[in-house]
Amino acid sequence: MKQAKKINLRFIAAMTAAKLSRFALRALGRDGSCTPGIIAVKICPDFLSRLKMPDLLICVTGTNGKTTTSNLICSVLRRAGFGVTNNSTGSNVEGGVATALLAASTFTGKPKNETAVIEVDERSSLRIYRHMTPDYLVCNNIMRDSLKRNAHTDFIAYILGAAVPPETKLILNADDAICSGLCPDSENRKYFGISAEPGEDTVLRSRDIVYCPVCGARLAADYVRYDHIGRLRCPSCGFRSPDPDYCVTGIDRISGRFTLSYGGGKTLTLKTVNSNIVNIYNCCGAAAVLLEAGFPPEKIQAAFESLEIVKSRFNTLTAGGVKVTMQLAKGQNPVACARAFSYVASLPGEDKRLLVMIDDKSDNTNNSESVCWIYDCDYSALKDPSVGVIVFAGKRCRDHRLRALIAGVDGGKIRICDGLDEGGKLILSSGGGDIYILNDPYILKESTAVRDAIAGRLSNAD
Ligand SMILES: [Zn+2]
Repeated sequence: MKQAKKINLRFIAAMTAAKLSRFALRALGRDGSCTPGIIAVKICPDFLSRLKMPDLLICVTGTNGKTTTSNLICSVLRRAGFGVTNNSTGSNVEGGVATALLAASTFTGKPKNETAVIEVDERSSLRIYRHMTPDYLVCNNIMRDSLKRNAHTDFIAYILGAAVPPETKLILNADDAICSGLCPDSENRKYFGISAEPGEDTVLRSRDIVYCPVCGARLAADYVRYDHIGRLRCPSCGFRSPDPDYCVTGIDRISGRFTLSYGGGKTLTLKTVNSNIVNIYNCCGAAAVLLEAGFPPEKIQAAFESLEIVKSRFNTLTAGGVKVTMQLAKGQNPVACARAFSYVASLPGEDKRLLVMIDDKSDNTNNSESVCWIYDCDYSALKDPSVGVIVFAGKRCRDHRLRALIAGVDGGKIRICDGLDEGGKLILSSGGGDIYILNDPYILKESTAVRDAIAGRLSNAD
C-alpha cells in the first residue's frame, strides 16, 4: 500500500461527512458522484493526499476518448479478477475523483480495491496531481475543445506539463505532436500510435500546431490522419514526431481487429470496440498502459475479445428492417463532432438519414452560448454521397444548417426544426435508408427517447 499523509481529525470529519452525504444523496435517488468529494475537499483541502492510493493507480486524460479508454482499462482489469475503483460513470473533476476514491475507501482512508482507473479532466490537473501521484497517466490527445471551458491547446498542454508528477510514467499519443511533447524533460515517457494508412493526406491544415516547438519553423507532415493527428516533421531543425513504442501496424476493418507491434518484434492481435479510428487509438492507449504495467499479453488479448463500446457512446438497433444508430457527437467540441460526422459517412450504406442533435443544453440554459465552435468544426464529411438527408434539430438548427451550407453540403438535403421530437418525425417522413442519430451527451436522455420513438414507429409500420 502506498504512503499517504497521516490522517487527522479534519480528515476523519471530512470522510464522515462525505460518506454520509453520499448515502443520503443515493437514498434520495441522486447519483451523488461529485458532491461528497466537494464536501470532503471543503472540510479537508488536502483530503486526496491523506487517502491511501491503491497499489496500481492509472489516470487517463486528454481532450477526447477519456471515458472509452478508462472503461477499456477497467474492463480488462476486472476480467483479470482485480477490484477496480473507477469514476467513468461519474465526474472527472476534483470532486468526482475524490468521490470515487472515498467511496472505495474505509473510514481511515484505506483503499478497498487493489487498482484504480481514474479519468481526470485536463483542466483539473493542477488541483488533482498535487495530491496524488498516478503510476501511469495515459494522454490520448490534446485537441481544440470548448473555447470557454478549455481556452487553448497551449494552455492545456502547459497545465498538464506543470501538474504531472515526475515519478508518473506517461503513455502518450505519438501521433499528436502537442500530446507527445508533454513533459519533455521526463524520462518516463512511452508512446503509442498508428502507422500510416493508404490514402492519407500530407497537408497539415490544423491550426492547433503549425510551427515547430523547437525552432519555430513551419512544420511539414509525412501524413495527416485528421486535424494535427499524424506524423509531423520540421524541415528546418529535424524535429519529428516520436516513434511509437506501441504501434498499430495493421487494421482489419472486416474482422474488427488490429495488430499491435511493440517490444522489438513482438505482436499482439486485438479486437477493437469499433472501427472508428478514434476508438482504435483508445484501444491502443489502453493496451499500451496495460503492457507497460506488466500485464500478460494473452490476458489483454482475451479480455479485448469480449469488450464492447459503452452504449452511451455508440449503439445500434434494427426496427422494421431499418438500422437506427446513436453516435455521440459532443457539442462545443469541434474535433469530436467532425470525427462523428466522418465516421458515420464512412460506414457502409446508401441514402443514409442523419438526425443531428448537438445543441449543448447546459450552454443553452445556464450560460452564454458560443456558436464559434460550429465554424471551427469540419462539416465536409456531410457532403459524402452516401448521405441522403440531414435533419438538424434543436435551438441552434439554423446555425448548423448555415455551417453545412458553407461546407458545401447540398441545401436540398437539409431539413431543420427547433424541437427534438419533431426531428424524429421529420427523419421518418423523409424516407431513405438507415438512420443515424448524432447526439450531444448532455441530451442523452432526450435523444434516447427520440430514438425509441423512431424505432417504435418503424416497428409498427413493418
Ligand atoms: Zn524545427
